[in-house]
Amino acid sequence: MSQRPIYLDNHATTPVDPRVLAAMLPYFTEQFGNATSSHVYGWEAEAAVQQGRETLAAAIQAAPEEIIFTSGATEANNLAIKGVAEAYFSKGRHLITVATEHNAVLDPCRYLQSLGFEVTTLPVQPDGLIDLAVLEQAIRPDTVLVSVMAANNEIGVVQPLAEIGALCHDRHVLFHTDAAQAIGKISLNVTAMQIDLMSLTAHKLYGPKGIGALYVRRRSPRVQLAPQLHGGGHERGLRSGTLYTPQIVGLAKAVELAIADMPAESQRVLALSDRLWQSLRQLDGVLLNGHPTQRLPGNLNISVAGVDGSALLLGLQPAIAVSSGSACTSAKRTPSHVLTAMGRSPDLAYASLRFGIGRFNTDAEIDQAADWTIATVRSLREAGSAVVEAPTSRRSAATDSR
Ligand SMILES: *Cc1c(COP(=O)(O)O)cnc(C)c1O
Repeated sequence: MSQRPIYLDNHATTPVDPRVLAAMLPYFTEQFGNATSSHVYGWEAEAAVQQGRETLAAAIQAAPEEIIFTSGATEANNLAIKGVAEAYFSKGRHLITVATEHNAVLDPCRYLQSLGFEVTTLPVQPDGLIDLAVLEQAIRPDTVLVSVMAANNEIGVVQPLAEIGALCHDRHVLFHTDAAQAIGKISLNVTAMQIDLMSLTAHKLYGPKGIGALYVRRRSPRVQLAPQLHGGGHERGLRSGTLYTPQIVGLAKAVELAIADMPAESQRVLALSDRLWQSLRQLDGVLLNGHPTQRLPGNLNISVAGVDGSALLLGLQPAIAVSSGSACTSAKRTPSHVLTAMGRSPDLAYASLRFGIGRFNTDAEIDQAADWTIATVRSLREAGSAVVEAPTSRRSAATDSR
C-alpha cells in the first residue's frame, strides 16, 4: 500500500483517466487552433468540438445543437436557472427546487429570490426522495421552472426523473436537472425522461476539471434562455468565450468511456459499496443515509451514532480520503443541509461519512477502508471523550431497518 490514503471521495472529484488525457494532449500543442478561425488550425479545432458535441448528444439522446459547453456544472446550473428566469420573466416568476440540491442550484435560486422571484423549496422524505404529489401541488400557473437533481452528491439518491419530466410537461413547466453526479453512472435519456435542461460536468467522471455542458431542448418545447455571459456570440449566442478544445475533447472522451463501460462498471462498483456496507454495519449504531437501492452504485453514506464527526474524520485521514457531513465552506461548521433535510439530527449529520467508490478502487482497498473505519470508531467509542450523549432516541434511530 502506498503512503497516500486510499481515495474514496470520487463524488468530490476523480482523477483524469489516462485514456482521456491521451485524447486531450494533441489539442494543447499541434492542434491548438481557435474553433472559430477560418483556416486549417481553426477547422481542426472546430471538428474536434463538433465531434465532442455529437458524442455528448448521443450519450443523452439529444441533438448536437442542443449542447452548450460551459466551464462545469456550476456554470450550467446558473445558465439554466437564471437564463430561464430572465427569458420567461413575463410568463411567470415562480421556481421550484428541492432542499437537498447542490449549492450551485440553491444559490442561483436564492439570488433570484433577492431580485423578487418566488422560489418553493420542496422537502424530501427520510430516504432523500421527493414526493411527487408534493411537487404536483407546488406547481402554479406562474411556475416557469422545476429544478430537481438527477443524483445527489452526498447520499447518491436518484430522483424519479421520468415521472418528474412527465408531470412538468403535463403542466407546461420546464424541467431542469443537475446531472453532474449521474452522467455515466446511470442512463440518462432527455427524450424519454422529458428533460428540458440538463447540467453536466467532466471532473466527476474521470475527465478534466473546468469543463461541462448544458443540454437545452430545441423542440417541443423550444427552451428560451437569456445568456449570462456576453461576448463573441459562441454557442449560438448562449455562452460566449473561446471554446476550450482540449477540455471539450476530454469531456467527450470521458463520457464515451463511462457509457461504454457502464453495465459492467456499475455492477463492479455496486459490489464494492455493498461489501463496504456489509462490513461497516457490523458496528452498532451505524445508519445508512438515503434510499437503500435507488442510489448511485458507488455511493455509501453512513452516520455513526455516538461519535464526534470531526474526531472521526481526523481518525480516518491518515488511511482514507472521504468526506464528512459537515460543510466546511465557511469558518462556522454547519451540518450537511442534505442530511438535515432528510430528518437526521445535527449530531448524526456531523458524524456521517460519504464514501464515493470509483473506477480505480479495488476490493483490497475497500477491505482496508472498512477495517480502518471500524477500528477508528471502536477506539473513539472506547476513549469515550469523543462520545456525544447517546440518547435513547438515537438508539431507536439506529435500529431502523434502513
Ligand atoms: C460537483 C457538482 C456540481 C459542481 O460542478 P462543477 O463542474 O464543479 O462546477 C454541481 N452539482 C452537483 C450535483 C455536483 O456534484
